[in-house]
Amino acid sequence: MTNCLFCKMVEGDIKPDVLYEDESVLAFRDINPQAPIHILIIPKTHISTLNELDDTQLAGQLIQTAAKLAKIENIAADGYRTVFNCNAKGGQEVYHLHLHLLAGRQMTWPPG
Ligand code: 5GP
Ligand code: ZN
Repeated sequence: MTNCLFCKMVEGDIKPDVLYEDESVLAFRDINPQAPIHILIIPKTHISTLNELDDTQLAGQLIQTAAKLAKIENIAADGYRTVFNCNAKGGQEVYHLHLHLLAGRQMTWPPG
């Protein structure tokens, strides 16, 4: 998609702080972190929201990448949070599917 921020990252026009990449997913640090560790994991194909995700293999790859990065970032044992914000009431701001991986502080429940 030409006017999508995260597609521009996949295409290399914008260069985020990339932590992991394979043929299906890209993971990079959030520019405005909400926790000491805040990583975004995105599919390389443009999918607007979780509502449009119909590829179960890709869904698994996004989630497993989060778990893999949690081990690499040494947060797996202490704990972390993964979040898909979906549409306006879910707090979604960038309309290219992304999984948040947050850690490094105590999370609270319910979330805001
Ligand atoms: P959402 O609110 O859509 O679930 O999350 C979008 C996330 O993208 C936010 O946490 C925001 O800080 C992050 N973000 C927005 N623009 C950029 C950018 O240019 N670079 C990076 N690395 N993250 C961004
Ligand atoms: Zn996109």
